[in-house]
Amino acid sequence: MAEAPKTTVHPEKARAAMFAAPELIVTDQHRVMCDGGGGALGHPRVWYDMGDEGFVDCGYCDRRFVARGGPLDPGAAGG
Ligand SMILES: [Zn+2]
Repeated sequence: MAEAPKTTVHPEKARAAMFAAPELIVTDQHRVMCDGGGGALGHPRVWYDMGDEGFVDCGYCDRRFVARGGPLDPGAAGG
């Protein structure tokens, strides 16, 4: 009897993976720092300024920093 391959994907993670952006970081800061989270996935520390757009993408790790209450803040939608 063959067993189905076991997956350890949590429902929350599977749900998050369906969103396009790798990671969305909502912040109050206008200037944001990113180092990829450190460790093996890290990258040199870089600073970004959101400017007037209310968001900025990290050129190293594709994280997206979003201004809290800005146009791309998911928590601000429907409020
Ligand atoms: Zn980064």
